[in-house]
Amino acid sequence: MTGSATAGLDADALIAAARDGNHRSLARLVSLVENGAPALRSVMRAVAPYSGQARVIGLTGAPGVGKSSLTAALVRAYRAAGLRVGVLAVDPTSPFTGGALLGDRVRMQDQATDAGVFIRSMATRGRLGGLSWAAPQAVRILDAAGFDVICVETVGVGQAEVEIASLADTTLVILAPGLGDSVQAAKAGVLEIADIFVVNKSDRPGAHDVVRDVRTMLAMARYEAGGWRPPIVSASAATGEGVEELVVRLDAHWDWLGESGERDKRRVARAREEIAAIATADVRRRLGGLPGDSRLDDLAGQVARGKLDPHSAADELLAG
Ligand code: GDP
Repeated sequence: MTGSATAGLDADALIAAARDGNHRSLARLVSLVENGAPALRSVMRAVAPYSGQARVIGLTGAPGVGKSSLTAALVRAYRAAGLRVGVLAVDPTSPFTGGALLGDRVRMQDQATDAGVFIRSMATRGRLGGLSWAAPQAVRILDAAGFDVICVETVGVGQAEVEIASLADTTLVILAPGLGDSVQAAKAGVLEIADIFVVNKSDRPGAHDVVRDVRTMLAMARYEAGGWRPPIVSASAATGEGVEELVVRLDAHWDWLGESGERDKRRVARAREEIAAIATADVRRRLGGLPGDSRLDDLAGQVARGKLDPHSAADELLAG
């Protein structure tokens, strides 16, 4: 055998196996995304005709609000309805670890042996293009593998939340009592992206106050006629309370997306971001505009010493 580890990779066979429910093949495909493997190109080409079927639900919120627990509750609910569920836990802050971070933690273990559930963590820091490069492609692969619902769980760290929103059909912003001023924290950019607010840990003191704060805040928001008004769902992943209502609200949002034409709009916007992220990463790679690149280092040295202005340096990089 010669060549790299992925040289002999048969994209079609892997995808066929993944569509047949072979989780090892699916995990291998997701690893190609995580590693930015060259073989990904042929995989994405083969996957394209199969994608666009799944419903993508994004879950975001500060660490500890209960994203993993709620994801597990949703997985149970959708499994009970006979749907296949994929879970992608994206950690944009941690370096590569081979994918064993969030989703495959203890809380998901009861689902670990269920063939109708696929759980995978993905770290994107250090990856050229980051979350916006990797996550949509991983979602596409899960989608092509035939999952009806794909939950994308991410740690809320500013930009990552917004990127998740452009990825999902429905975005859940999760809050919980006892984590400081959660509503205030949520205001920093995530309000615009919430399709549904979930106040988790309704079994804990202070949950009512969080619900009230979100309600007050939403009362001041303006909505277009016929626009979606984000509901507030009070839930407890621990007791299961409110999970049924959350599923009902998710269904209502899904229906609204279809009726309003917003689903197609969001998906086109998603594809636009996806293309731009891939193109940007490719341009950077081709230009050699990456740290450690000698041509860039040389230009950077000249700019730092005042021998060259940064615009001219950028011109040179592009011309090269
Ligand atoms: P994440 O960091 O947002 O994914 O949050 P986790 O799902 O890991 O939950 C953080 C902690 O809160 C864990 O100890 C959970 O057991 C706990 N937790 C999650 N949901 C609830 C809930 O509804 N009620 C209570 N009391 N605890 C919860």
